[in-house]
Amino acid sequence: RAKSAGGNRYELADPEADARVITRHGLTTALPAALERGEFFIEYQPLVHLGDGSVRGAEALVRWLHPQHGVLGPDRFIPLAEHTGLIVPLGRWVLEQSVRQARAWRERYGETTAAGPLRINVNLSPCQLTHPGLVQDTVDILERTGVAPDALCLEVTESALIGADDDLLKPLRRLAEMGVDIALDDFGTGYSNLANLRRLPVSVLKLDRSFTQSMQQFPADPVDLKIVEGIVALAHSLDLAVTVEGVETGAQAEQLRILGCDTAQGWYYARPGPPERLHELALVDATA
Ligand code: C2E
Ligand code: MG
Ligand code: MG
Ligand code: MG
Repeated sequence: RAKSAGGNRYELADPEADARVITRHGLTTALPAALERGEFFIEYQPLVHLGDGSVRGAEALVRWLHPQHGVLGPDRFIPLAEHTGLIVPLGRWVLEQSVRQARAWRERYGETTAAGPLRINVNLSPCQLTHPGLVQDTVDILERTGVAPDALCLEVTESALIGADDDLLKPLRRLAEMGVDIALDDFGTGYSNLANLRRLPVSVLKLDRSFTQSMQQFPADPVDLKIVEGIVALAHSLDLAVTVEGVETGAQAEQLRILGCDTAQGWYYARPGPPERLHELALVDATA
């Protein structure tokens, strides 16, 4: 195919770009059957208490075992699922699986950890927020599985809530009133008005990985240190907990602990993995 590049000049389309379009299209059309055939699976990444290193729970991260392309990460297919609306049933499936997994962990290790109730964190896309069934679906899943609302934390990105009006916040408020935690994911990337935080029914800030990356050196860049210090102080003064993502080194963990962050997540502790991996970590923990 040739495309017009202005005037009478024509250029051949980049064949690789074409292949990408076909793949995108192919992936998009394959999504609904993939959900029916059970090609999605969930990996869990532990959330670790920075004070004592105990496992506090895990974040659920969805993957697609594609019959031709192998394991695809969420960045490859979540945007497509959002575009077609499949994210609603897919997100509901992720929520139900994750809450069931949390119940299995709670049955095995008890409902609380050294650092409080054992949590399962599940990501919500903006399309799920505007879907009218969100609150009822969540209530149904918690009731069916017998898991207490305080075991669940729903992660919403900061950018999804920028400029959010009351209609958008209403379902989150209902969930928060029930005891579900709401976390603001990728915090610090969305240029949101900090004063706005007071309006949002959130109880956790998840500091974006870019802040963790700037803690590579010990001591870290003094300006970044001040920014994180300020965010932590503000969060704690509003009664919000601070989780950091993307911790890859012990130096980063130590720096973020000194800065007062509460919980951490990252390859330094564990990569996302099958649910048995958390069993191992929790067992190590309980016997330590
Ligand atoms: P997120 O919620 O911010 O999740 C954290 C991402 O950072 C995950 O990528 C995780 O594997 C990765 N990560 C964790 N520790 C480290 C580290 O130490 N270093 C580095 N470089 N990366 C680390 P993943 O699994 O590819 O997920 C990407 C995004 O896809 C997630 O970002 C989340 O926004 C979205 N996502 C994942 N699962 C779901 C889901 O079930 N529903 C929805 N709506 N979105 C999801
Ligand atoms: Mg997340
Ligand atoms: Mg995040
Ligand atoms: Mg992120």
